[in-house]
Amino acid sequence: MTQYRYVCTCAMGWHDIPYCPYRRRPEPRPITPGEMRTMRHLRELERAGQLTVARPLDLRWLWLVPPAVVIFFLLMLL
Ligand SMILES: [Zn+2]
Repeated sequence: MTQYRYVCTCAMGWHDIPYCPYRRRPEPRPITPGEMRTMRHLRELERAGQLTVARPLDLRWLWLVPPAVVIFFLLMLL
């Protein structure tokens, strides 16, 4: 059986998980100047009202379909 191990420099030598549980997690990647510029630009567009945030369609009504089908078939039986 092939086993993929994370070879580590700590006393364990390897781990079954893709990181060392005994070492501190790496710091999150810092925001690049380009990302900073993009976020500032998006914020400015939002403030200027030129940016409309697309909202996902409200599909909650789909939960009404199964009970409606059941009620429909019950009515058909009567
Ligand atoms: Zn380790």
